[in-house]
Amino acid sequence: MSVSQQLNIIPQPVSAKKLTGDFKLSKATTIVVRDEEDKRAAKFFNDYLNEIYGFMLPLSKDEGKDFIRVITKKTGKTPAKDGYTLLVWKEGIIIEADTHEGTFYGIQTLIQLLEPYDFKSIISKKNGISVSSLLVPAVSIQDYPRFSYRGMHLDVGRHLYPVTFIKKFIDYIALHKMNFFHWHLTDDQGWRIEIKKYPKLTEVGGYRNGTIVGHFPGTSNDNQRYGGFYTQAEIKEVVKYATDRYITVVPEIEMPGHASAAIAAYPWLSCFPTKKTVIKQNGSKGSAVKQSGGDVKLVQETWGVFDDVFCAGKDSTFHFLEGVLDEVLALFPSKYIHVGGDESPKTHWKICPHCQAKIKRQGLKDVHQLQSYFIQRMEKYLNAKGRILIGWDEILEGGLAPNAVVMSWRGERGGIAAAKEKHYVIMTPQQPVYFDHSQIKGEDSITIGGYNPLEKVYAYEPVPKEMPPENAKYVMGAQANVWTEYMKYPTKVEYMILPRMSALSEVLWSTKGNKNYPDFLRRMKAQTKRYGLWQASYSNGFAKARL
Ligand SMILES: [Zn+2]
Repeated sequence: MSVSQQLNIIPQPVSAKKLTGDFKLSKATTIVVRDEEDKRAAKFFNDYLNEIYGFMLPLSKDEGKDFIRVITKKTGKTPAKDGYTLLVWKEGIIIEADTHEGTFYGIQTLIQLLEPYDFKSIISKKNGISVSSLLVPAVSIQDYPRFSYRGMHLDVGRHLYPVTFIKKFIDYIALHKMNFFHWHLTDDQGWRIEIKKYPKLTEVGGYRNGTIVGHFPGTSNDNQRYGGFYTQAEIKEVVKYATDRYITVVPEIEMPGHASAAIAAYPWLSCFPTKKTVIKQNGSKGSAVKQSGGDVKLVQETWGVFDDVFCAGKDSTFHFLEGVLDEVLALFPSKYIHVGGDESPKTHWKICPHCQAKIKRQGLKDVHQLQSYFIQRMEKYLNAKGRILIGWDEILEGGLAPNAVVMSWRGERGGIAAAKEKHYVIMTPQQPVYFDHSQIKGEDSITIGGYNPLEKVYAYEPVPKEMPPENAKYVMGAQANVWTEYMKYPTKVEYMILPRMSALSEVLWSTKGNKNYPDFLRRMKAQTKRYGLWQASYSNGFAKARL
């Protein structure tokens, strides 16, 4: 009798055929690795075995009696880029791929073939009785991804999390065969990346004097200092951790809006350096305004969009941002660098003498063209250093920078328009891939609003119907965004991403024809057991909704 009659792999592989029998994986099993880089995939597997089941396998160059052969070689046998084949029979397991990424994805599938123990039984085993062997069902799998960009975003500006959790988040990305981590590092409520040239960015901009209590606009302010940042050493550690998992970390440095924290550190970045920051203390009552300690500029303590943005009229602003980017580029090898570009009010620019002079000097029509000038100038800087700029869809307004990739968040219209102009696009529409929205109706957890249940995420199609077929090639993929106004702790982040991230992984990896929601729900039973093994908190609302 086989361990399971049906396979429970998420995302669903392109083709998977169950064979008869099982492979018994035990401490006597060796991992055969002949290629130096394949040791990364083997290490990931061993670390997983050790963490969950309490044992590891020896690495060898030769096949023993039972073995897992992990091999990357240009055979051309794998059907598409970053694909793999996986064969399990009674005496061994072979994972083959043309790229190391492919081999790594084969390992992720193997992990999901391991006997689906219950969390409780593993915990008891961790407390004394160790697992001595695991059954792996015999299978033949051929698999490859549908989209090349399979991303998860995390905002650490509103709330930040320890490096240990950032790594856990990256592991979740890896376990779902996703390959981009978009790290939102700066915002109005905190600047989170150490920049040696401008130390006040973290000394001042890394901390706020309080946070609103409850749902925006809040009932009061907790008046507790909150903050922190990631040192450059920590960032290097995270980037390496991600690279070992074939995940690219795309840093985001917000400009010209969402700049309150940077402006609190260096007020000359504002159009009006002596204009005091307004912090609405209890906006629902509409009256109280906080202004502490005589500081002219403050890091924001409430959520939303703020008028105090980087001055586009002064060259010093651009020199500052170039200095920041120089250090960012040295830390992040990613080809893509995200510069935000969203939600930047033009209120100050319309009355700022520097901005108005710049509009005249550059022959621009209005403040929207000034925003376009801003982004295009930053793009030139990045392109000269061999990098590609990504911006939110507002960068379409006033003219798109020539080589920019557009992240479409206000629905899909921005993505459709950008693809029409032959620009690459990453789809991140609020509905359904903003994971800060609720996943259950009436749940008693504070969220930013909106309703993106598991089913809607699963049904998402990144290539919109309205897009002419010839433009579909410009859709690189999609990404879920995790804005953290209402996620103070890592457990809340996990609860918001799981299980929706599992659904998204299937949207991005599996073929359209292989998508099947009832079957996904069937496989979710095994997947929730895995969440248990990972000791992750997750929402079980989708299961309740079906009762
Ligand atoms: Zn200005």
